[in-house]
Amino acid sequence: MPHDFNILTQDIKYLQGVGPNRAELLAKELSISTLGDLLSYYPYKYIDRSRIYKICDIDGNMPYVQLCGQILSFESMGEGAGKRLIAHFSDSTGVIDLIWFQGIKYAVKNYECRKSYIVFGKPGVFNGHLQIAHPEIEKAPESVRYEARTTGDLFEQTTATGTSSVNPNNPNLQDGHDTQPTFFKGLCPSYNTSEKMKRSGLTSSGMAKLTANLFKLLKEPLPETLPDYIIAKHGLMSYNDAVRNIHYPASPDLLRQAQLRLKFEELFYVQLNILRYAKDRQLRYRGILFNTIGDNFNTFYHSHLPFQLTEAQKRVIREIRADMKSGRQMNRLLQGDVGSGKTLVALMVSLIALDNNCQACIMAPTEILAEQHVETIRKFLGDMNIRVELLTGTIKGKKRQKILNDLLTGEIHILVGTHAVIEDEVVFHQLGLVVIDEQHRFGVAQRAKLWMKNSTPPHVLVMTATPIPRTLAMTLYGDLDVSIIDELPPGRKPIHTVHMYDSHRSKIYALMHRELQIGRQIYIVYPLIKETEKMDMKDLEAGYDEISAAFPAYKVSKVHGKMKPAEKDAEMQRFANHETHILVSTTVIEVGVNVPNASVMIIENTERFGLSQLHQLRGRVGRGADQSYCVLVSKVELSETTRKRIQIMVDSTDGFEIAEQDLKLRGPGDLEGTQQSGMAFDLKIANLARDGQILTIARNTAQEVIDSDPEERNQLNNILWNHLRELRKSNINWGAIS
Ligand code: ADP
Ligand code: MG
Repeated sequence: MPHDFNILTQDIKYLQGVGPNRAELLAKELSISTLGDLLSYYPYKYIDRSRIYKICDIDGNMPYVQLCGQILSFESMGEGAGKRLIAHFSDSTGVIDLIWFQGIKYAVKNYECRKSYIVFGKPGVFNGHLQIAHPEIEKAPESVRYEARTTGDLFEQTTATGTSSVNPNNPNLQDGHDTQPTFFKGLCPSYNTSEKMKRSGLTSSGMAKLTANLFKLLKEPLPETLPDYIIAKHGLMSYNDAVRNIHYPASPDLLRQAQLRLKFEELFYVQLNILRYAKDRQLRYRGILFNTIGDNFNTFYHSHLPFQLTEAQKRVIREIRADMKSGRQMNRLLQGDVGSGKTLVALMVSLIALDNNCQACIMAPTEILAEQHVETIRKFLGDMNIRVELLTGTIKGKKRQKILNDLLTGEIHILVGTHAVIEDEVVFHQLGLVVIDEQHRFGVAQRAKLWMKNSTPPHVLVMTATPIPRTLAMTLYGDLDVSIIDELPPGRKPIHTVHMYDSHRSKIYALMHRELQIGRQIYIVYPLIKETEKMDMKDLEAGYDEISAAFPAYKVSKVHGKMKPAEKDAEMQRFANHETHILVSTTVIEVGVNVPNASVMIIENTERFGLSQLHQLRGRVGRGADQSYCVLVSKVELSETTRKRIQIMVDSTDGFEIAEQDLKLRGPGDLEGTQQSGMAFDLKIANLARDGQILTIARNTAQEVIDSDPEERNQLNNILWNHLRELRKSNINWGAIS
């Protein structure tokens, strides 16, 4: 009889040991509602329980250990919140205290003196006594019983009431004969569970009992989820063996193979999903064909470009150009470190749009940046007959109306603006290209809105200076092609970065004095975090007063997020015009501002910034040809991780390397820019920081499948398209990727 594949869709409620109450808990706490959900709730670690320790060999620094012995006596201590239960537990070699602060009644009721137990937990020392708090306890099987030392005279015997009863709602208490014992079996799975679940007996070992019960039902092999040829090509374990070994590894080697197989599969389907959508979109939407390189581009390139393009800029422009003449709509992510010259690339590809009778639109995340772009672009273009206009929320009335009109008639060639350009009233004559600067501030939905501004969707170039590690970019922006500017314009001196403690003010001031004297400007940045906003503002105010007092010969600007945009811009402008010398601010200056004369960036409370943010801030200096400095100021006591993070900043000026390290230290969920990406990080087993290699192979494999079987005709791939459809049905996020 063929195996009933649908067994995995069965309600978890009917699994032995679950029932309606626990089913509700499982659904609520872990979104487990079917047997299949439980099957793919993988352990987060494994504990080697192949060994039983002797109590005489235990010390308080050991990790989890397994002991076998008997409880000699119980002792209750303390009152109220300090109440605790101690069981004196012994094998033939020594005594250790088992301690409960919670679940005292339960322990008293269920554990008996003079019966053999396997005890599992993390030993520690308190008041000179070895102890294990909240141990896991199971009845010992016959084969491993130890004789407990008779120590009745050492401890007063208190009574432990009750006998070991079998509680049907609590598999923890079931006798060994009808559940497989989970102890003494080599690598044992540990499952994450919540406090609520633990209270209902769904501890890690409670969950292990459930998965053990599940495997008892799954007698037939589970159906394969990848085509044979892919399994063979990559030497993967079968799905059936993998899920069994991921829960109950037969050996460390088989565990590794199981992990590899399941990680590959997970990443493969994520990639197949994204690439399939990208392909569909290509088929559905045609792109505007830009086949001309005309006067605008050529005139600019030959007689207005003030310097040589870097090789990286040239390469990127070629990549973009190839997209725009392919007949497909371009969706490209341009990653380039701060100062790598992305603005110029944006301008030059805009000129290609103009050469093909289209308009271009450049979007920036803030007003001041949009203004700077307009200024820069106008300067670059000089006397060329190209009209560039600015549109932001503060441009109103007649002026706004005129811009809207001239856009519609096509008299404006390049529109630069904030998100104001997305609004419905902004209508173009023929929009051919949209450039989005600093992508992470724009959501996917906003990007999509821009597509609708033309009957054929415009080409889209997304530029970001927050370098996203390749592995993450593939998953986040898997539908975007990626170009990278990995080279800075020549003549830049790497920024000299140092870490100083806040007690070393005088050294910091000395550096500031020296730079101010030779006519340079200085940024001082304070963190601003929502929860501590009041304190942060105080820090900023105090810093401003202190600096003003210490540098009476110089003018100090102050900028923070609470100021009105116009005020803020005016103050920034004063600094940019060199009317002030020192700018004390919160992180509002983070993105894009260009003041080449500034040579020192001082970052206060460095420990409170993320690495990518620090890198962005540091990128505000080193924009001219002079040596620039970044001073990372922190308090003296730092955690190990913070110390490491600061060291990475001191050692490297390469944004990609920093982002890669950041990902390793913090994990992808925390990474800046991932929240609005539309892709939730609900990977079950793969880890983007650690599994980059597997991801690359998985992505290439997915791409090969799509290229070699674009119409889904290859029978061998049936498994795979069916499985993808199932996944799309059960993962809401999977349909939402733009
Ligand atoms: P970002 O990539 O951070 O947006 P910008 O576009 O603001 O960088 O460029 C930083 C500075 O480098 C600008 O002053 C720009 O004019 C200059 N620049 C850009 N490309 C080159 C180049 N090929 N050679 C020299 N300077 C360049
Ligand atoms: Mg820029």
